[in-house]
Amino acid sequence: MATSLVGLVGWRGMVGSVLMERMQQEGDFALIEPLFFSTSNAGGKAPAQAKNEVVLQNAADVDALKRCEVIVTAQGGDYTKQVYPQLRAAGWNGYWIDAAKTLRMQDDAVIILDPVNLPVIRNALGSGVRNYIGGNCTVSCMLMGVGALFKTDLVEWMSCTTYQAASGGGAKHMRELLTQYGTLNAEVRSLLDDPAAAILEIDRKIIDKQRALGEGETVNFGVPLGGSLIPWIDSDRGDGTSLEEWKGSAETNKVLGRGPGFGSAAIPVDSLCVRVGAMRCHSQALTVKLKRDVPLADIEQLIANDNPWVKLVPNTREASMRQLTPVAVTGTMAIPVGRLRKMAFGSQYLGAFTVGDQLLWGAAEPLRRMLRLLLEH
Ligand code: NAP
Repeated sequence: MATSLVGLVGWRGMVGSVLMERMQQEGDFALIEPLFFSTSNAGGKAPAQAKNEVVLQNAADVDALKRCEVIVTAQGGDYTKQVYPQLRAAGWNGYWIDAAKTLRMQDDAVIILDPVNLPVIRNALGSGVRNYIGGNCTVSCMLMGVGALFKTDLVEWMSCTTYQAASGGGAKHMRELLTQYGTLNAEVRSLLDDPAAAILEIDRKIIDKQRALGEGETVNFGVPLGGSLIPWIDSDRGDGTSLEEWKGSAETNKVLGRGPGFGSAAIPVDSLCVRVGAMRCHSQALTVKLKRDVPLADIEQLIANDNPWVKLVPNTREASMRQLTPVAVTGTMAIPVGRLRKMAFGSQYLGAFTVGDQLLWGAAEPLRRMLRLLLEH
């Protein structure tokens, strides 16, 4: 595809900002003519990456969107739900690259994570598929870390317990978490300054304050997250699972090109998804039932050699504390996998822990890499 007009929607949000940063770092803007859209500031000034198109377009204006050969959106699911059908109904036949979940499971859409499923993407490009959708952030980070186990057909089933950062909810959620931390700190600052202050007094004041946080400080998460956790992410499916947990299974299989839609059996993946007070990065503890007993050293080699970004972390206290945390991983493309060991249940049971910056591999990176694939197509 020659230099194209590429529409960018949602570029100022959490995912969009990271996407812009990565596109800048990788020189993507040199290959395209960007056309920037906004849902809140149409007519305003486009960001510095603009070339000839320096005015922000209205993101609901189908005629303006129709000019683009490719649209990359990180605006969110409601936007996709509203605008995408209108655009196709208006005859637009361009490529739609999206971070939102809305279209992910549709038959005419491919979930993009090219280090894991490049053959699936190439096949789709060849057969004229026009919708390329970024996967659920937790699923993408997990597959970047232990995708080798699936590629070598070693997984009988997998169970994931996640520890997901506040930024998974977007820019407003990050601000809310920090505001809560600030409020809690302020509540006990004088006691913290006094080494003789009773710890139970500090503890009591904090829990009272957490329970008293008003709507203004909990509007995004619904309940306090700072100094707590929330064992439910996304909507309630009414069967004892959350939508986030359902995605773990459905999307993992779709990314891999497995399941009934592909004429093969799905690999069972079951999750318990938990929001924690980290700023960025989704972490997950994995239990894998292997199809056969493979020596741990071979498994380590498989994982370490799968892609340039996965990083094997020795299963020691020191390495885990230094290399396997959101603080260590945030802002990096690395996907560390550690705590690897055979579990007490038997030699076919593997335990692992992995951390990934969900805004990079879990959101922005697959989108910009898909744009590159299209430009090369
Ligand atoms: P977000 O930060 O809430 O941004 C979405 C839009 O909100 C922006 O494009 C912006 O639109 C508007 N906005 C309103 N107030 C804002 C503020 N104070 N700062 C920045 N933007 C503001 O959402 P997001 O987390 O980037 O998510 C976008 C999509 O990606 C969603 O579908 C989400 O499910 C998906 N996703 C998110 C993650 C993640 O970890 N966050 C990971 C994977 C996928 P205007 O400029 O038009 O006003």
